[in-house]
Amino acid sequence: MALSPEAEDEAVELLRALIRVDTTNPPGLERAAAEVLADSLAKDGLEPKLVQAAKDRTSLVARLKGKGTKPPLLLTAHLDVVPAEASRWKHGPFSATLDDGWIYGRGAVDMKNMAAMSAMVLKLLRREKVTLERDLIFAAVADEEAGCALGSKFLVDDYPELVRAEYALGEVGGFTQEMSGRRLYPIQCAQKGVVWLKARVEGVPGHGSMPRDDNPVVRLAAALAKLTPTALPAHATRAAERFIRGMAAAQPLLGRLLMPLLLKPALAETLLARLPDRGAARALGAILRNTATPTVLRAGSKTNVIPSFAEAEIDGRTLPGQTVEALLRELRAVLGDDVHLEVLHAADPVEVSPETPMFAALARAVREMDPEGVPVPYVIPGFNDAGPFSRLGTTFYGFAPICFPRTPKVSFAELYHGDDERIPVDGFKRGLGALYSTVRGWCTA
Ligand SMILES: [Zn+2]
Repeated sequence: MALSPEAEDEAVELLRALIRVDTTNPPGLERAAAEVLADSLAKDGLEPKLVQAAKDRTSLVARLKGKGTKPPLLLTAHLDVVPAEASRWKHGPFSATLDDGWIYGRGAVDMKNMAAMSAMVLKLLRREKVTLERDLIFAAVADEEAGCALGSKFLVDDYPELVRAEYALGEVGGFTQEMSGRRLYPIQCAQKGVVWLKARVEGVPGHGSMPRDDNPVVRLAAALAKLTPTALPAHATRAAERFIRGMAAAQPLLGRLLMPLLLKPALAETLLARLPDRGAARALGAILRNTATPTVLRAGSKTNVIPSFAEAEIDGRTLPGQTVEALLRELRAVLGDDVHLEVLHAADPVEVSPETPMFAALARAVREMDPEGVPVPYVIPGFNDAGPFSRLGTTFYGFAPICFPRTPKVSFAELYHGDDERIPVDGFKRGLGALYSTVRGWCTA
């Protein structure tokens, strides 16, 4: 639904005001951004609550009351952003500069756009005195980029009644992803689980002048060298199948025939090795198997002493449907019994079905925003606020709609945490219109 030009401009200015607040995490310090939103919401008579897990690590929750005949809908965005190296940018990363129809700034797509759009949707529904069947909640959270502990996880643990909802719309999805000229719109339905591990090898200390076969540094290094990106077995999961078949269906004939072959473990590796887009190959590879990436190494403190142990930290990720135990079994098969594994931190994978009335509504929103748009159920290799919110029984979809122009061709994936992060003003307004009509339709039906 096209909104009034005044409402669209108001949302654009709200987005720019949010970008101008530096919420780089660490340290985050989201309070000032939460206050920008709170002031804006209060102007329309909403009464947002500010809560914080630590000083200035502020999250905002606002609620537009409905009749309560249906369960609430939650709109959510995180307020923190990743660091930006200003010297590499065309415009200051916190300047919110308007240049040739684009707004530049850290957080323009990840994801202050959704914060501004969600606030605007609440403000408009309130302003227009629309009668809602259900409550509409908006949660703008701190600390997503550092793992959600001081934001969505804190809200779900300490204030569950503020954010409990039937469905949630948030990160990641709803943006244009061109593939062979087709305009796809991934909508997150699943994300992988996290299993951070410590791997340790022990031995007998000795003098560096006399090499030993059981040197833990050498044994650990040899074990880790086996952990190539394809070391763990491929699994064809339902979530990956939906994503790959959804993309394939929108492709020209060759892609339509070839892409589903990725779901055959015996062929996946060969096909991905031949894909010219290496970034896409890595992303696809990551949704076909559990992964384990060594990231930290520790051993010894003196050049002439063989240490008694060597340790590595491994970033493990599990597919939807897979467990911590399953990953450990796969890892032991590769690393051998010599390496002792300890789980440091784990979070379950998340998966919801795209066969719901809400997903159908999001698919309609995509086509309203972009008549050529093809919605695709998406599985992300990383994690976001979907994990904590799902613990309340909420069905979480990644949907923060943005319509990218055909030209100039700008890839959303490269803007995400990238230099010159920017959003097309027109595409933002279209996204706002699509979000507004979807939420209005859902909450009034
Ligand atoms: Zn994000």
